[in-house]
Amino acid sequence: MVSTSTTVAASGRQYLPVTTDISSPNQSLLPLTARVNSQQHLEVGGCDVVDLVKRFGTPLYILDEETLRTACRQYRQAFEQHYPGESLMIYASKAWNCLAVCAMVASEGLGIDVVSGGELYTALQAGVKPDIMYFHGNNKSIDELQMAIEVGCTIVVDNWLELRTLVSLAGDQPIRIMLRLTPGIECHTHEYIRTGHLDSKFGFDPDQLDSVFAFVSQQPQLNCVGLHAHIGSQIFELQAHQDLTGVMVQWLSKAAQYELSIQELDIGGGLGIRYTESDDPPSIEAWAKVICEGIVAACRAQNLALPKLIAEPGRSLIGPACVTAYTIGNQKVIPNIRTYVTVDGGMSDNPRPITYQSVYRSVVANRMSEPLTQKVAVAGKHCESGDIVIKQADLPETQAGDVLVVMATGAYNYSMASNYNRLPRPAAVLVHHGEANLILQRETYQDLLRQDCLPERLKEF
Ligand SMILES: *Cc1c(COP(=O)(O)O)cnc(C)c1O
Repeated sequence: MVSTSTTVAASGRQYLPVTTDISSPNQSLLPLTARVNSQQHLEVGGCDVVDLVKRFGTPLYILDEETLRTACRQYRQAFEQHYPGESLMIYASKAWNCLAVCAMVASEGLGIDVVSGGELYTALQAGVKPDIMYFHGNNKSIDELQMAIEVGCTIVVDNWLELRTLVSLAGDQPIRIMLRLTPGIECHTHEYIRTGHLDSKFGFDPDQLDSVFAFVSQQPQLNCVGLHAHIGSQIFELQAHQDLTGVMVQWLSKAAQYELSIQELDIGGGLGIRYTESDDPPSIEAWAKVICEGIVAACRAQNLALPKLIAEPGRSLIGPACVTAYTIGNQKVIPNIRTYVTVDGGMSDNPRPITYQSVYRSVVANRMSEPLTQKVAVAGKHCESGDIVIKQADLPETQAGDVLVVMATGAYNYSMASNYNRLPRPAAVLVHHGEANLILQRETYQDLLRQDCLPERLKEF
């Protein structure tokens, strides 16, 4: 597939790092439908971004349906092509959980993974069926466990406390569970998003395998259908996932010794995406191929039947499908030091830079063919010096009112958004074939007060 983002680079003088043909959405900085229109404006999903901003205001999340659906299809097709057994893709919805996103992903035949009662509730309200829902989390509450049991989704059990709690909560119907195990695999990503190494808060330790399997095999109330591991996020190397396939198949053969009939292996997510021109993630297809071939080879070597293979991508499905549009306001020039170009959002709509030192790239949507003449810091409007959206951005000459667009903001932006400084959370629009539909309303000041209570005795002072 040839991405239309090439058009942007070819026709625009503005710095757009994507110049090669893109085969996979996670390798593209901009959504697949991005182009520069005749007014030299950025267009996404057939919609002029400057028009969208006039209609919906800023900050605005702009989600491109085609990019998201393409990523879903590529995952499914790659596993169907490279894995001779059954497979299921499930969307790790913590990346961006809302009704429209859950519905779109489910309509592509993906399941949904949730990590809280709130995410489970949202997915259910979106119409997702419980038999393709998986409930994760390292400290699920009793209420959340009860909700999951009632709903009938699969519970991915993280620890002994949860295992024992489930036994005590079980009714007549056995509870469908998976076990999350720590594989002891290191991967090269930010410390906060690494989860597969031994010193991790997630999952059962490898040296507890025997005792966990022995315990579960004695519990008729627990129907253990699968084993799960997730080694981290924003991973570019294929080796870690290849190693994981070998480790997980060893678990499978050990489980067989305890007469646990495990039918599903869930390999987690973690494939990285391109946030800057120097990021070079493998394609969805390449990632899938390594995993499928690894599982097949390891199962053959151990003479095991192929399990149903599950993968749970989050970031690589939704990340590249969204851009965030801001309005530029104040510009502070500190001679010989730095220029700050300030936007009307920041860490409340995108906490990743301040949390993980994440790096982003941007364009100015209403000046797509102007030369890039300045290096600036794009600052947020929050009361933290660390609220910098982009430390070093190459921009054309800008003025207040211009529309700055930050790329690849679909994952862990809206889902991590806050009301810090009492900023209302932004709106989100879904764009497709020139149509724009609101999928998240912009919060209002009334929304900010929705949960506030003022005790009687504080009302007069
Ligand atoms: C976060 C998470 C994922 C998705 O990770 P990505 O890097 O966004 O693909 C998958 N599985 C589990 C258990 C997770 O916690």
